Amino acid sequence: MTVQRQAACHCGQLRVRLHGDPVLVSSCHCRACQRRTGAVFGSTSFFWRYQVVAIEGEHRTWRRAGDSGRWLTFHFCPTCGSNVFWEAAHVSNMLSVAVGAFADPTFPAPSRTVWCESKHGWLPFPDSIPSHPKSSA
Ligand SMILES: [Zn+2]
Ligand SMILES: [Zn+2]
Repeated sequence: MTVQRQAACHCGQLRVRLHGDPVLVSSCHCRACQRRTGAVFGSTSFFWRYQVVAIEGEHRTWRRAGDSGRWLTFHFCPTCGSNVFWEAAHVSNMLSVAVGAFADPTFPAPSRTVWCESKHGWLPFPDSIPSHPKSSA
């Protein structure tokens, strides 16, 4: 049976239901992810659009250009402000979902970590996870 997953905002009204495992999980230490999450790094899971079962609840969006100059659209709960998912214009067949929004300690681990040039110095990452000073692209 395919695993069913649910990501949700802090107050719970915005939810994304998905099935299956993420295509890729990535941790990002860029300063934008630090500010976006309020955490010292962001963790993103990438799913194919066909894995999205439903997006439920109210959400607002905010758009910015990524480092490549391509648009990123962030979806967040208007009540509690959690950024639950986002979309990249150049990979429109995928949805990015915040790993923390699953609140699932058994969620698949990252297979890469990026923007390590701005990683907090005290934070260790396992040597088994390939790390990149900037984007891995
Ligand atoms: Zn909320
Ligand atoms: Zn980032």
